[in-house]
Amino acid sequence: MIKSKQIQRPERILVVDDQEINRDALGIILEDSYDVIYAENGKEALQLIDENIDTLSLVMLDLMMPVMNGFEVLQEMSENEKHKGIPVIVLTAEKNAELKALQMGAADFITKPFEVHEVIRARVARIIELNEGRRLISAAEHDQLTMLYSKNFFFEYANRLYQYHPEMHCDAIVLNIEQFHSINALNGREFGDDVLRILGNEIRAFLAETDGIASRFEADRFDLYCCHLDDYRGLLERFQKKVDTISPKVRIHLRMGVKPWIPGVEPILMLDRAHAACNMVRGDYQNPLMIYSDDMMARELLNQQMLNDLSTAAEERQFKVFFQPKYDIQMNPPRLSSAEALIRWKHPDLGMISPGVFVPLFEGNGLISIVDNFVWHEAARQMASWRDKYGVLVPVSVNLSRSDVFDPNLVDRLVAMLDSYQIDYKAFKLEVTESAYTDNAKQLLDVIDRLRRLGFQIEMDDFGSGYSSLNMLSAMPVDVLKMDMKFIRNIESNETDLRLVKLILDIARYLNVPVVAEGVETEGQLAILRDAGCALVQGYYFSRPLPAEEFEHLIEREMGIDRTEKDAIN
Ligand code: C2E
Ligand code: MG
Ligand code: MG
Repeated sequence: MIKSKQIQRPERILVVDDQEINRDALGIILEDSYDVIYAENGKEALQLIDENIDTLSLVMLDLMMPVMNGFEVLQEMSENEKHKGIPVIVLTAEKNAELKALQMGAADFITKPFEVHEVIRARVARIIELNEGRRLISAAEHDQLTMLYSKNFFFEYANRLYQYHPEMHCDAIVLNIEQFHSINALNGREFGDDVLRILGNEIRAFLAETDGIASRFEADRFDLYCCHLDDYRGLLERFQKKVDTISPKVRIHLRMGVKPWIPGVEPILMLDRAHAACNMVRGDYQNPLMIYSDDMMARELLNQQMLNDLSTAAEERQFKVFFQPKYDIQMNPPRLSSAEALIRWKHPDLGMISPGVFVPLFEGNGLISIVDNFVWHEAARQMASWRDKYGVLVPVSVNLSRSDVFDPNLVDRLVAMLDSYQIDYKAFKLEVTESAYTDNAKQLLDVIDRLRRLGFQIEMDDFGSGYSSLNMLSAMPVDVLKMDMKFIRNIESNETDLRLVKLILDIARYLNVPVVAEGVETEGQLAILRDAGCALVQGYYFSRPLPAEEFEHLIEREMGIDRTEKDAIN
């Protein structure tokens, strides 16, 4: 029976269901706001759709019906250009059927028995509105090359699965092709397209076996959102095997990042993490698979907390500057020569956080300048205070970050600060890590040049940890070389390390640049360095980094040993 009410309403909805009770139920829910027409099976539905093609705003379609079922209707509608603009909400009691319907182009689904009326009304209104705004996702939204979903459709779809199918525990997978631009450049675009197409086919074949969706997110990045899987290595191998068949001459390497399902994380975040994991194995042909782990998760949460807490930490003075002495070991006994200012974060919940944890994080986004600025002021203030108390100016070096170098006001800020404390620029040393020299050479060299002409001294930190070769050293503007700890660690047992240390000391001597050996922990290391002619030592052997009050004991001890020579501390 076809029931049709011709009330003058702007939006017309076709309800298709073989069960009268369902048609009536929907009628009760919707008739107040919409012009509802009814069909009992797919055949009638298609007929009514054609008759109402210009006025129909929505079809609500049962899937299991005699004569012609809902899937067949969807199929017909997707093949008919005129029908494509009409959104369909499927009515169903079966999970698998819903998914299939969505894949066939349905915009949404409502489960039977019918939910709360308000919910149904809201969803109907939303779909109609979406469609009218032409924002409705449609089955036509495919990537033409791979026939996988377009990015937007994929996200919208993934969100729906997440929202309406919480029981479906979906993992996020990101698949990428190594050096895809080179593959294109060397073998031609057509070959590149073939690779993408063949990989796309294999992804679709995989998804046909499990529940899930996929998109070619961009160029050579594929995103998958699918039912949880245990064997990702096997899956990657499957895709890799497929691309291996493409050409015996071209080696194609895939890499994969996975974020396994956990409750309550939205698809977009899941995919972000899978993407991050995928990037971590870039270029690693031995281990092309990375699964986003609990550790990484914990790390990310910690990072987020630190980022959130930075401004309060600065306000509440949770940061403390510690001082670690450097000793002149060519004197007997060794003599306190200067100090390095090192930041500490005493977090109210997390306890003492090492700069190795937060400095790289804040360097990544420039926030480190807040920390560095604080350290520089504290160091300068402390130097002035010791000078006033003891009559000696203990030179202090501070660490400069990459992003500090990009601050056009860096030089002016340092100068103004030191002038305000009347501190000689020469005593306020600047440590710049070796890798910064190789990263942003030109700008860094300009800034360093200006600073040195003003009288600042530059210490190259972590020398030997980066990529600059020994012969580049003569061209680098540095006043002091800080040898990386890793060289010192094994000099007592490892002949090669010892020879390297001696070589560095020789070159530095030749260049007339004093060397600080960092991380000296034992008497034996100290003796070797002293004999090899190393000028300065910093390390636990003498002292760990200390709060300013404790560092004062070192100054006092030094002065007590030889008060008359206190001027030597400069
Ligand atoms: P760095 O500048 O190379 O500092 C030396 C690091 O070695 C310090 O670690 C110090 O505590 C540690 N150390 C010193 N002697 C020994 C030793 O004998 N054995 C061992 N195992 N370690 C020793 P810390 O304080 O954890 O700092 C780590 C890094 O964080 C620093 O390396 C520096 O790159 C950065 N950093 C510290 N403070 C600041 C700061 O205020 N600003 C910036 N931008 N970076 C900072
Ligand atoms: Mg340093
Ligand atoms: Mg260092």
